[in-house]
Amino acid sequence: MLENKLAPAPDRLRRALVCSLACGPALGRGEPPLQRPRVPILAFHRFASAVQDSMTVRIAHFEAQLGLLQSLSCQVIPLSTWVAWRLAKAKGEDLPLPPRAVVLTADDGHRSQFEVMAPRLRERGWPVTLFIYPSAISNAAYAMTWAQLRELAADTRVSVQSHTYWHPDLLRERERMTPAAFQRFAGDQLTRSRDTLEQQLGRPVTLLAWPFGQSDDALARQAAEAGYLAAFSLGNRSATAADPPFTVPRHLVVDSVNLRQLAARLEAAFGDKAAP
Ligand SMILES: [Zn+2]
Repeated sequence: MLENKLAPAPDRLRRALVCSLACGPALGRGEPPLQRPRVPILAFHRFASAVQDSMTVRIAHFEAQLGLLQSLSCQVIPLSTWVAWRLAKAKGEDLPLPPRAVVLTADDGHRSQFEVMAPRLRERGWPVTLFIYPSAISNAAYAMTWAQLRELAADTRVSVQSHTYWHPDLLRERERMTPAAFQRFAGDQLTRSRDTLEQQLGRPVTLLAWPFGQSDDALARQAAEAGYLAAFSLGNRSATAADPPFTVPRHLVVDSVNLRQLAARLEAAFGDKAAP
């Protein structure tokens, strides 16, 4: 059963949301700067005992990274908490965010997220958001099965959100298609992914991660019109209320990001210095 929260917002509300979200933050005169707080949103992909590709983080290194978050007194919050804070901010409201807040995400549904990442986060009680493209699930050799994803999603600290249906390079596809054909294609990627995840997992899907972190203004508008509340890219910057909600940056964490570099990014987010 899908939850009632899935019911589409009335048109008027949706249009207002589309405008206020897709067009970026509304910053009036005299309002405080939107650069604080800076929240590092970390994006992981896969884990293994040795580096197998550019996205793999060695398990021992991952454990050290989690230990670093703990030793720096980071407070790992659900991505939905940050989004709620961001949406409130767009309306001029201020929800509380804990100090030294960090968000964990993982893309692409690699099996090692089930086998390696999830148990280590579970034992710490830390939430995580998985951005999934459904065509890979129970299909690609490296990917989780629907049963595994369902098992993870049964824990309310694990949120499963959309990464389009089959992870296309959207900007390249745009070049190869007529504008009308591309709009249909992108619309299908956005809605089929969400609908499949909601049907399979019975939980609402409102967030999107762009494949390869790539998007543009037209795609941002289309995602907002499709009913998403926010979308995430990459960019190795910490997220602030100054970031348009449909291109929120995340720090890509790969094995070559050593502990000193990760600590520097976190401290830059929490401190007074601008992020490196
Ligand atoms: Zn991806």
